[in-house]
Amino acid sequence: CIANMKEARVVIMGGGGVGKSALTVQFVRNVFVSTYDPTIEDTYRKMLVIDGQQCMVEILDTAGTEQFLALKELYIKSGQGFILVFSLTSLASVNELGPLREAIVRIKDTTAIPLVLVGNKSDLRADRQVPREVGTSLSKAWGNVPFYEASARKRINVDEIFADVVRQIRAFQAIN
Ligand code: GDP
Ligand code: MG
Repeated sequence: CIANMKEARVVIMGGGGVGKSALTVQFVRNVFVSTYDPTIEDTYRKMLVIDGQQCMVEILDTAGTEQFLALKELYIKSGQGFILVFSLTSLASVNELGPLREAIVRIKDTTAIPLVLVGNKSDLRADRQVPREVGTSLSKAWGNVPFYEASARKRINVDEIFADVVRQIRAFQAIN
């Protein structure tokens, strides 16, 4: 990424079933997995070249089933950037993100956090429950964090999401 930064640690969070694993696996392996064990929490690595600079991206795909709050705190502490995902087919999944961002802000003790907001499953047009404006107003409320509508299934905006958060991490490291 930059000279003194060999890897970017990204944590992907959000409610169950919103497509965290599908987005992660699509990004890392270029395939859509339609059935993925919702309890699996795993780390993935992918080498990225962004703006001409190589960077190893490490992604923690969370499952939200941590038995110990301390564990959740630990991975938020060690994460450098965050992807918060809801499903465009579930209004309820939007409401799960507020408490997650609050936890990140509390643990990092700052609101200046590399973060991307994602509304996934944009391919399921007929099942859409969340108007685009809901995402854009949440992004505004969070200080204009980038907001993407995406589809893990159709591979829409998948690379863009990860590149965005890595760019933010890089910019953040450069000034801190
Ligand atoms: P997670 O619990 O957030 O990790 O969600 P998963 O990645 O396991 O996905 C939950 C379900 O939604 C699975 O059945 C996936 O096939 C499906 N899914 C995930 N992303 C998409 C998408 O972009 N489009 C569609 N149509 N289905 C998706
Ligand atoms: Mg999962």
